[in-house]
Amino acid sequence: MEKKPEWLKVNYNKEAVEEVSRLMAKLKLNTVCKEANCPNLGECYKKRTATFMILGNICTRHCRFCNVGSGVVEAVDPNEPQHLAEAVKELDLKHVVITSVTRDDLADGGASHFANTIKAVRKLNPGVTVEVLIPDLQGVSEHLDIVIAANPDVINHNVETVREFYPEVRPEADYDRSMQVLLYVKTKAPQIKTKTGIMVGLGETDEQVFKVMDDSLKAGCDIFTIGQYLQPSPQHIKVKAYVTPEKFEEYKKIGEAKGFHYIASSPLVRSSYRAEEALEGGKS
Ligand code: SF4
Ligand code: SF4
Repeated sequence: MEKKPEWLKVNYNKEAVEEVSRLMAKLKLNTVCKEANCPNLGECYKKRTATFMILGNICTRHCRFCNVGSGVVEAVDPNEPQHLAEAVKELDLKHVVITSVTRDDLADGGASHFANTIKAVRKLNPGVTVEVLIPDLQGVSEHLDIVIAANPDVINHNVETVREFYPEVRPEADYDRSMQVLLYVKTKAPQIKTKTGIMVGLGETDEQVFKVMDDSLKAGCDIFTIGQYLQPSPQHIKVKAYVTPEKFEEYKKIGEAKGFHYIASSPLVRSSYRAEEALEGGKS
């Protein structure tokens, strides 16, 4: 694999990272920023934004790009919603992103824990906008309804990659089921912004990327994100290409022309990167 290009080099803000890491440890919370080794960690922590990961840090699935651990899942912490709400207050966040590992072992996939967390955050932090990045909840409508009923501002569900790569890259997920999840949310609750995204650099063609955009638009998706896949460790699936900033710009222009309310496309974009901006842009 070619050397990492200049445009992917980022400054690590050690001080800011340590400060927020201390707070997370105190409140026994996980952030996806750390678990996923996100390249924006320095920038986001400096701006005092973070993506919280609820329901533990062990996933029941095994996507080949993902740095989240697998193995024996943890018991759900009933105090987590309150702790998370307190962290939002302490960090003085205006927009909070809450995600989770996939918990296929739980009866409702963790939907009620998501709902409890949204409610706790809102109660302690009136005015804060809440974005949830949910797993597919196996496409069960009753479970999706639980999250929808808590009325978050944004429901994000990432398809992560093009349909053709699912068997190899996301063996336990299903592209069509993910599109159904997005469509279900939009049909049931049109006031909730919906969002999805992919990583590129796994060898996908432009046509495959445009097909994901078209499918997402058909599912009523408002916001779309595209970023470069980075291999978290030698055990993870290899990067096939470093997509140039110019190509990301082209994806953005084409995505906007296709009709998304907001599209974030650049090498370091992650689905929660500048999420507040995306919500503003996504207000139609
Ligand atoms: Fe990672 Fe999500 Fe896949 Fe689990 S389902 S391995 S958290 S990408
Ligand atoms: Fe965390 Fe998202 Fe920022 Fe990455 S882009 S550091 S996951 S808030």
